[in-house]
Amino acid sequence: MDCIFCAIAGNAIPATKVYEEDQILAFMDINPANPGHLLVIPKRHYRNIFDIDAETAGKIMQVGTQLASAIKTALNPDGLNLLQSSESAAFQTVFHFHLHLIPRWEDDTLVLPWKPQQGDINQIAEVADKIRQHIQ
Ligand code: 5GP
Ligand code: ZN
Repeated sequence: MDCIFCAIAGNAIPATKVYEEDQILAFMDINPANPGHLLVIPKRHYRNIFDIDAETAGKIMQVGTQLASAIKTALNPDGLNLLQSSESAAFQTVFHFHLHLIPRWEDDTLVLPWKPQQGDINQIAEVADKIRQHIQ
């Protein structure tokens, strides 16, 4: 399979690793949105949130929490965004599950990709109903 993150996990191509355990790896993003931008991945290939199992996703979040704490101490950001993009409609460009940790500063240039606007309360309830019916 031609997957850049599988290649990084398998040491076939280099990356600036910051943390590694049995099933999980964290390394610096090569195009950082801000200094300290890093990615947490499962070493096994999962395409995205629609493919990964909840236990592995939980381990990634656990490591993400540890690394957020390290980033906070090391870089003293004003905040931090967690980002996980699934499918190209949601900005995914590398189709191997990854969680972005992006340190934030009050004066950085990043912006929210949507404009918060009050929704229709009935529509919101209808959509919630639809989702509720499919929780397994
Ligand atoms: P996505 O757009 O799928 O949410 O995020 C993919 C991320 O992987 C991007 O932020 C991109 O900069 C990063 N990336 C792509 N190729 C490489 C690579 O070869 N090495 C590293 N370290 N990061 C990469
Ligand atoms: Zn992969």
